[in-house]
Amino acid sequence: MIIDFHTHIFPDALAPRAIASLQQTAGLPVVFDGTANGLISLLKSQGISKAIVLNTVTNERQVEKVNAFALATQEKKELIPFCSLHPLNENIRERLCELKSKDVLGIKHHPDYVGIDFDDERMHPLLAAACELKMPMVIHAGYDPVSPNHTHATPDMICTVLDRYPDLILVAAHLGGVGRWEEVCEKLCGRNLYLDTAFCCERVGITAEQTKRIFERHPHEKILFGSDAPWASPSEILEFISKLGLSSESLELILHKNAEGLLGL
Ligand SMILES: [Zn+2]
Repeated sequence: MIIDFHTHIFPDALAPRAIASLQQTAGLPVVFDGTANGLISLLKSQGISKAIVLNTVTNERQVEKVNAFALATQEKKELIPFCSLHPLNENIRERLCELKSKDVLGIKHHPDYVGIDFDDERMHPLLAAACELKMPMVIHAGYDPVSPNHTHATPDMICTVLDRYPDLILVAAHLGGVGRWEEVCEKLCGRNLYLDTAFCCERVGITAEQTKRIFERHPHEKILFGSDAPWASPSEILEFISKLGLSSESLELILHKNAEGLLGL
């Protein structure tokens, strides 16, 4: 049983354009066409039972559209869509309550697309509501090519947020921060947050040694397997993880049990 905690899809009509524009920013090949059915075929071909789909808003006006698409994905039994809110939206708490009442199990937040530092005051309504309603929040952490000169979620910023919102259920993607894995080791490992493995493989610049150090210092109950498909395939990340020499108990936790516990599956 394997659950992929970190994937992305787009509405069928938008997928070709969305993929093309993201490819231009990131300069990466894709492993499926960006549609729901494309993802489901990929999962089936690689023996993955379920995937969390991280839908992300980049501006305040997109919220209704993005979340309507996310909610429509709920009918696919292989996919578990997370919704997204913009920190500057009005009535954040009410919106989050409504999503929760529709069985949405979590939210995705991408600080670099929103352009607000993760520990900025303007994040307060969203962080406070996620905390109060116990909604897991996945954030992009570390470098992103969309904002090459300023990272909006560094390990220090994440620490500040964890200090202020100790009950926040936080998942920092990409093992806590693309390109900042030494800092992750020092500052985030052992703290009360989940790390996902999205895109963690040689291609993103993380070494097996760095990965091992993080896995040595962070409880395996708090690590989630994720691929970041369409940017990497689950099999590529699985292969990378399989070189770390983890016990079968740890692998069980990371590949599905932690996700099941976190989302109450
Ligand atoms: Zn991602």
